[in-house]
Amino acid sequence: MSSFFEVTTPVNDEWLEDNTGRRRISGQGVMLFLYSVIVSFALILVVSKNFETPEQILAEEQLAEEGKRVNEEKIAANNMTLPEVYVDENVTEIESFDNPTVEWTVQGEENQPEVKDEVLIVEKGDHFIGILQRLGMEYNEASQITSALKKVGYDVRSLQAGQKINITKTVDVPFGELLSVDKIVIEPSASVKYIVTRNEDEKYVAEAEQQELKNENKTISGTIRNSLAATMRNAGVPQSVVSNFANIFTYKVNFRSDIKAGDTFRVMYDRKMAPDGRVVKNGNILYAELNLGRRNKITLYRYKDASGNVDYYDEKGMALKRALVRKPLEFSSARVSSHFGWRRHPILKQRILHSGVDYAAPMGSRIYASGDGVIQRAQWAQGYGRYVVIRHNSEYSTGYAHMSGFARGIKPGVRVKQGQVIGYVGSTGRSTGPHLHFEIMKNGKKVDPLKIKAATGANLAGADLRKFKQEVSRIVAMVEKDSKLASK
Ligand SMILES: [Zn+2]
Repeated sequence: MSSFFEVTTPVNDEWLEDNTGRRRISGQGVMLFLYSVIVSFALILVVSKNFETPEQILAEEQLAEEGKRVNEEKIAANNMTLPEVYVDENVTEIESFDNPTVEWTVQGEENQPEVKDEVLIVEKGDHFIGILQRLGMEYNEASQITSALKKVGYDVRSLQAGQKINITKTVDVPFGELLSVDKIVIEPSASVKYIVTRNEDEKYVAEAEQQELKNENKTISGTIRNSLAATMRNAGVPQSVVSNFANIFTYKVNFRSDIKAGDTFRVMYDRKMAPDGRVVKNGNILYAELNLGRRNKITLYRYKDASGNVDYYDEKGMALKRALVRKPLEFSSARVSSHFGWRRHPILKQRILHSGVDYAAPMGSRIYASGDGVIQRAQWAQGYGRYVVIRHNSEYSTGYAHMSGFARGIKPGVRVKQGQVIGYVGSTGRSTGPHLHFEIMKNGKKVDPLKIKAATGANLAGADLRKFKQEVSRIVAMVEKDSKLASK
């Protein structure tokens, strides 16, 4: 019995000695040899491909795509019709090396490298490496920049169309050929700037520069001419602030009938400023004022109470009352198919409370939040099927049953606005057809949604009221100071 390690002399027909003593390979041997080469090569390919990181694969794909694009550009350029050659008949000399009468300027010493700044705007479908390659950079160098940026937290794949890239480059003067890219600055948001430079070893290094944003309050006032919105916009109030201003007053003022030419407005809102003085973001309205017909002055202040709810209150801490919507449906012609109340169950022969109002509506109709609040439940609840409960304040909650589905993002703890879509009409749970079973709970007890006059927005009291009053004095001082500055 031969041991495992024993070297045996091959006794087969693969290797034969010819009469010159040299080895020759039989036909079958060649096939086997080639086959094994192909198999191992394929194996190496598969293994190496699998070891590539997703970035490498992506970079390769991008590179291939870029190559394709450049090729297409070349083809397009070749297909363009060239202008016809203009022949000046007075010129008899032919420019060529053979003709010594024509002087040829020798390029060389007067070639001066020149540093140039350029702002590139990323277009749809562009990617970072491709942009650099179009400048004349090599792929390897460009991908060095990509990794340098990655080290400081910027992924070039997040590059978006419209984004500006500031580039400082050195070019050859007469030809404009790229000699080097010396600096790249990308500012994906106002709060951070990424700067790529070349170090002494000509390697690219990146740094992230966090920009300190400043909070600032801005006060603007004016006299209403034609419409409130137009007057505000003309006075320089940003559109988002104009819309919020209208939303805040919508419960207090009828814009069509209450506002007359000559009435005045004043608004103070906060905004974020970049170090260079740019407005980065217009934020919340802190103070809103309308003077209607000289006597009716309405002032509203923003306040976040101890439980985190933000609302607008008058100077005494009285909330803007917002009635709960009784038919929170997109399908406004939905009819009541079953009222709230006690009824005798036909089979069980006992009295059962129908704890809400049913609106028959087409499957999939949008269901709105009846008022501002926080989602308390958004889950399956036996006979109720898919069920949502919104808590509006310490007094009121609303419930929505038999939904076919919840709207995206609707889950416990999420804050919703009145009129926001929370789900869709369905027939889940114990239901005989698509409808919305809508409930209003007052202090935890189910009440008739069609009879109750339910309003959200509680007045401030206790510690909240004391804190609110301090906030009011602070805001009033700011508004007065700003208004004085503005009138100077
Ligand atoms: Zn019902």
